[in-house]
Amino acid sequence: MTFAIPFDNSYARLPAGFFSAQVPDPVRAPRLVAFNTDLARLLGITPGDLPEMAQVFAGNTVPQGAEPLAQLYSGHQFGNYNPQLGDGRAILLGEVLGSDGIRRDIQLKGAGRTPYSRGGDGRAWLGPVLREYVVSEAMAALGIPTTRALAAVETGETVRREQALPGAVLTRVAQSHLRVGTFQVFAARGEIGHLKRLTDYAIARHYPDADGPMGLLTAVRDAQARLIARWMGVGFIHGVMNTDNSSISGETIDYGPCAFMDTYHPDTVYSSIDRYGRYAYSNQPDIAVWNLAQLATALIQQVEDKEAAVEEATAIVHAMPALLEREWLGVFAAKIGIDRPGEADKTLVTDLLTRMARERADFTNTFRALGGPRARDQFTDPTAYDSWATEWQQRVGQEAAPDAVMRTANPAFIPRNHRVEQMIASAVNGDYATFQRLHTVLSRPYEDQLDHIDLTRPPAENEVVQATFCGT
Ligand code: AMP
Ligand code: MG
Repeated sequence: MTFAIPFDNSYARLPAGFFSAQVPDPVRAPRLVAFNTDLARLLGITPGDLPEMAQVFAGNTVPQGAEPLAQLYSGHQFGNYNPQLGDGRAILLGEVLGSDGIRRDIQLKGAGRTPYSRGGDGRAWLGPVLREYVVSEAMAALGIPTTRALAAVETGETVRREQALPGAVLTRVAQSHLRVGTFQVFAARGEIGHLKRLTDYAIARHYPDADGPMGLLTAVRDAQARLIARWMGVGFIHGVMNTDNSSISGETIDYGPCAFMDTYHPDTVYSSIDRYGRYAYSNQPDIAVWNLAQLATALIQQVEDKEAAVEEATAIVHAMPALLEREWLGVFAAKIGIDRPGEADKTLVTDLLTRMARERADFTNTFRALGGPRARDQFTDPTAYDSWATEWQQRVGQEAAPDAVMRTANPAFIPRNHRVEQMIASAVNGDYATFQRLHTVLSRPYEDQLDHIDLTRPPAENEVVQATFCGT
């Protein structure tokens, strides 16, 4: 059997204004360093020999059926509108229909310059490629909607950042790469025909039951609310929730300066470029509403009766905070063993979180330890836990199976920042054992895996990662 990807492309059928045809720029000496066999199977990809796959996933060979292109979009970056972004370092090879019936994009990230590259080199270095590979696959294993990683290739070339670094290409798989910014670019330019076409395309691809632009807005709202609540539940901080990184399908997309919290605090920010904490942990729900409002503004442009559309869209957006709150409560109630929460349970959750923040408790380990003898050790003052736990015990006493609920809501393993950094440092030195181990352990995050208990530990003082970088 020879290597084959069963492409079935739809984006390439859209009008020329949606994208630029663009073949990847070949690299010198591609070497396949990771390949996701399970995902390949889901996508109906027949694996081939390593050098052949390295050529394809590096962009040196355009596989049969691919129609490589760079997508146009715009977006608000840190609240400011940038009229033209687009795939500056990513090239869509095409789409496949998975064995689950879902259509997915196969995209090379770091495959060279495109018409949207502006000043950039169109490349990526190994660090962010492996970070995205490990973290996006960990998210998938946690059960959180996300883009996936199919392959990673070292290019055999260096990329110039502050220093010369090893180049790499990531193959990313997404339910689509449609973003809020894809709608914004046509709305802002007054290209209403394109906007309508895009709306129809998004509905057909993601929400076939949605009725028109406002139906789409509602569906995206619901998907985003579910997504953000799930991020909150694992202590995930996306770091760059710009509208161009806000996906229409409701998947987590664009793993740049993202991070999982160790010690819990609602104001936590890691991204070095997020100076004012716009995308801090606890701001994420508000930002999701803000981003939805930008989608609403764009979608309205195609509706004849603007006044009615504005009214309808406003109602849809204004309902999002309550929806987020409901999703959030569902997630956090499960984390303390409560299956169908009532309003009063919210106080119980927020009380715990307040104590965790004050007593510098590790987010992941505290929830995982709940009910056990070690939970109180997570708090600088353990009595802060004891007094909460008394009340909590009374409440969960009424639940049928609190332990089972908590087991599947509280992972033991998350990709901790210091472990991700150590993994990257090893890989740069040619050692992929750490990458393999991290990836394997994180594929079963809810299992104890006692042999890997060291990966559950928070960083020692000298291991703490203070800031994360976009690393583009
Ligand atoms: P991001 O912050 O990763 O969402 O990227 C924002 C924009 O910058 C997108 O249009 C990217 O395609 C573009 N971009 C990021 N890095 C590069 C690069 N190395 N070369 C060209 N364009 C880039
Ligand atoms: Mg982006």
